[in-house]
Amino acid sequence: MPSFDAIVFKAWPAPKELSVELSGPALQGLKRGRTLSQGQLLSLASSPFLSDVHAPLNGRLISLIGLRAQIEVDPNLSGLPPSPISLDNLFGKELEDGLKKLGVEPLLAPELGDPVIISALVPQPGLEAAEALWVDQRSTLEVGAAVLKRLWPDRELVEVLSPSQEPLGLGRVERYKATYPLTLPILVKRTLLGSLDLLKRGVVEPWDLWALGVAVRSGYPVTHLPVSINKSYYLVPLGLKISSILSQVNLRPMRRDVLVLGGLMSGRPVARLDRGLGKNFRALNLIKAALFSDRPGPCRYCRLCRLACPLDLPINILASQPLSLWPQTAAKLGSLLDGCLSCACCALACPSRRPLVDFVGLAKPQGLKGRHL
Ligand code: SF4
Ligand code: SF4
Repeated sequence: MPSFDAIVFKAWPAPKELSVELSGPALQGLKRGRTLSQGQLLSLASSPFLSDVHAPLNGRLISLIGLRAQIEVDPNLSGLPPSPISLDNLFGKELEDGLKKLGVEPLLAPELGDPVIISALVPQPGLEAAEALWVDQRSTLEVGAAVLKRLWPDRELVEVLSPSQEPLGLGRVERYKATYPLTLPILVKRTLLGSLDLLKRGVVEPWDLWALGVAVRSGYPVTHLPVSINKSYYLVPLGLKISSILSQVNLRPMRRDVLVLGGLMSGRPVARLDRGLGKNFRALNLIKAALFSDRPGPCRYCRLCRLACPLDLPINILASQPLSLWPQTAAKLGSLLDGCLSCACCALACPSRRPLVDFVGLAKPQGLKGRHL
């Protein structure tokens, strides 16, 4: 585990272009050629699970295709600068609406009677930014945690921390010496409350606290994300293209290397380099091809995959089928894996290197596009 004493989330240099995913139809009057100011409203949230989207930097709108806006960045241009919104005296639903207007993605409320769980643990390898934020952006996180008390005033706040992490001091503290996969928010909640809730209702991570803190402190829309890119930490504008990241940090994936959006265990492989980062982006990691070099062997019926599964799902029964039969097997028996977390523990445990995450991807109804680690 790296030491975070000297970590600073560095500002990312202004890119030439951004590709911003909108949360609904573009605002009326927003046309090609229009100049934009940082924080200017681009779209209103079209669902209760989304927030409004704003221009991440000054520049000019160069195209609007579907729900994607291409922006040419130019610090010398400006459009309609946003006015600050004070959320200081708001509570509950009013506060939630105010946060959405400032671009903060809505958090799912805890279930009846449950506490709000702040998990500061590193959820999985490759997402060490959780710990880095806890130290480096502490005052912002403290403001964010105080916002939780106004969002859900009647709920207890519980901070779940590793043995060495300092509490924010706003709630009860639970110390976990957990290792992956028990550090996944879903499993942190299960350990604490005994219930398995795949939606993670009421579980908040440092990235969420950071966005809340930035919005409430500044009163301006949140246009940047705190992220880790190949083990370094940055504050990047929304919509930053993967291709810009690669050229800026001089990251050159070789053939068969895999770039992963998110954590190393359950992140998704990058499908398009020209896509801009969305609000849920947390990390970009590179997995070297050497990790994929073994060819999968036949199943040894050892059940190690099942023993490694934190939910005791019968992955061994499905995965023991010949690879050529997987699509049919997945279609027939996929519902057995409905609760699968895509944590990849089964794949890592398999001595025959069978691509079990691919199998899970076929089997899960939502069609996860996972890849074998
Ligand atoms: S990915 Fe594998 S180990 Fe993880 S929950 Fe799914 S079946 Fe179980
Ligand atoms: S760990 Fe691999 S070899 Fe063992 S039962 Fe599971 S799929 Fe088969």
